[in-house]
Amino acid sequence: MGSYPGKPGHGCVRMSFKCDKCGLCCRMIRGTPLEKWARKDGSCRHLTKDNLCDIYAKRPTICNVRRLWEVQFSKTVTWERWLRLQEESCKIIKEKGRSG
Ligand code: SF4
Ligand code: SF4
Repeated sequence: MGSYPGKPGHGCVRMSFKCDKCGLCCRMIRGTPLEKWARKDGSCRHLTKDNLCDIYAKRPTICNVRRLWEVQFSKTVTWERWLRLQEESCKIIKEKGRSG
């Protein structure tokens, strides 16, 4: 498993995914592995009214950009590319959210 390149002391420039906490991705969990937690409106039962996750410290790997990369994608995708992919999917989610 590759190590997280942004780890303090690793020597690489720290890069991270910028999430503005709009909560949209946690409102569209139908059809995902988290579906069992979906409320009637498709939002995750762990999403609070403030758009926070009430199990944040123990959130599933699929909800954790860094851990998902570490356990599943670090051998095939660089951290930089992974961040770009996250930003792209975030943009798509926001466009989808705006259109309905
Ligand atoms: S849609 Fe993007 S910005 Fe909004 S909460 Fe999800 S990851 Fe963060
Ligand atoms: S577990 Fe937390 S981060 Fe994951 S979808 Fe639910 S509210 Fe969002």
